[in-house]
Amino acid sequence: MITSSTHPILTPQQIAELQRLLGSEKVLILPEERLVYSYDGSKQRSLPAAVAMPTATEDIVKTLQFAAEQKIPVYPRGAGTSLTGAAVPVYGGIVLTFTKMNRIVRIDADNLTATVEPGVITEELKQAALRHNLYYPPDPASAEFSTIGGNVAAGAGGLRGLKYGVTGDYVLSLEVVRMGGELLHFGAETMKSVTGYDVVKLLVGSEGTLAVFSQIILRLVPRPPCVTTILAVFDDDVTALETALKIVQKPLMPAALEFMDASAVDCAYRFTKKPFLNNVKGLLLIDFDGVRSQVEEDARVARELCLAANARHMIDASVDQEQKALWDIRRSLSPALYQLAPSKINQDICVPRSTMLQVLREIKELSARYQLTTVVFAHAGDGNFHVNFMFDEANRDEANRVDAAVRELFTLAIQHHGTLSGEHGIGTTKAPYLPIEYGKNEIALMRQLKAVWDPDNLLNPGKIFFSSDIP
Ligand SMILES: Cc1cc2nc3c(=O)[nH]c(=O)nc-3n(C[C@H](O)[C@H](O)[C@H](O)COP(=O)(O)OP(=O)(O)OC[C@H]3O[C@@H](n4cnc5c(N)ncnc54)[C@H](O)[C@@H]3O)c2cc1C
Repeated sequence: MITSSTHPILTPQQIAELQRLLGSEKVLILPEERLVYSYDGSKQRSLPAAVAMPTATEDIVKTLQFAAEQKIPVYPRGAGTSLTGAAVPVYGGIVLTFTKMNRIVRIDADNLTATVEPGVITEELKQAALRHNLYYPPDPASAEFSTIGGNVAAGAGGLRGLKYGVTGDYVLSLEVVRMGGELLHFGAETMKSVTGYDVVKLLVGSEGTLAVFSQIILRLVPRPPCVTTILAVFDDDVTALETALKIVQKPLMPAALEFMDASAVDCAYRFTKKPFLNNVKGLLLIDFDGVRSQVEEDARVARELCLAANARHMIDASVDQEQKALWDIRRSLSPALYQLAPSKINQDICVPRSTMLQVLREIKELSARYQLTTVVFAHAGDGNFHVNFMFDEANRDEANRVDAAVRELFTLAIQHHGTLSGEHGIGTTKAPYLPIEYGKNEIALMRQLKAVWDPDNLLNPGKIFFSSDIP
């Protein structure tokens, strides 16, 4: 529990002890070094007192033993790309970063598994799997810089959810360290295991609040032999989304099915300068993968559906470089949006797919009512909207309107039987809204789980729950 006996700032003696335990080269204490670990993708910030850089599980054990004894908060951190403040050391203390635990320990081609340390960059694992003719499907748009540990802790989703599922669907087993230094293993290297409670599922998406992952075993699948990408642009975004839903209803099973509204395409056009995006009002980016004959047939049907919806233009790409160029349009969105305003609040509500058209209309209505600049894109196959409110934080009136719109957006999602977060988690930014989705009994039970794992609330305190105090 964060109390007056908790130490967000380390004394010189505590710093010296941490350096003795780990080796001084693994402890960063200079202000300019610590600054780098003070914020994440949410742009919230708070300076840690020290940064520990373990190189092996035993360093994590030592750090968590020491911190528990000294009542120092510890903040696990991957690449710091969280969009919800989940990696920000809000109470100071020690940031535990896995930059030096970034080894792919083993790719087991016979059993289709990968054993990795938590700091492995997602894209590096994807590339390593491809070299074995295998495939690691989870694909957050941040794959080129986020880490597997961060993906597991955030329960990351991304571009391939409809056909392949999300990060959590690929976690077979976890080696974890609890606050206090206890080393535990959950799950198994097998393709299935129902021995006892499914603690692996509990830890996926736990946002670094229950335990620290020191090693992760993931499932791989065979590399799809053929991939084709289709980009289709439309004269209005509702039609684009309607077409995406028709593709799934057909039923086709794209490996990715991304939607961008008129503002999103406009940002991408201004950022990438690609002429075929000029004056476009809605866009779909679709991947099919599998055996060639099926991919070609599915792509043909999808193209027909786009044409029937009066798609203005379509581009097909069947070789890697061309596909990457099309996907760069989607991956450029995050920086591209800042052309509209200096601040962004990106919410990732998820709703049943059948309600998506109605929800898009309601988001547009809400945005107009609050007079906000709003950019919407979606993992359309998953019902997962990214609703970006672009504003200027210095403009108090506008910031207040964004706050009100965010609350209404969450209420809207729940009214449509959806959820506050499809993939980014709760962190600090959504903690005040948790009661919109869960009642007090459910939240109390979640807090009790936290208290069992971390009785003193020292591991990533200040996240998920609005108040850091455990009842
Ligand atoms: C441009 C951009 C695009 C994005 N696109 C997507 C997307 O498509 N889909 C999606 O789901 N998210 C997306 N995100 C959000 C973010 O990238 C993901 O949440 C990602 O999983 C975070 O990984 P990270 O390594 O940066 O972790 P961090 O941000 O450092 O940490 C995230 C959480 O994991 C915890 N953590 C990290 N390592 C460990 C560990 N070893 N043990 C225990 N806890 C740990 C942290 O305490 C924190 O709670 C995007 C972000 C950006 C900036």
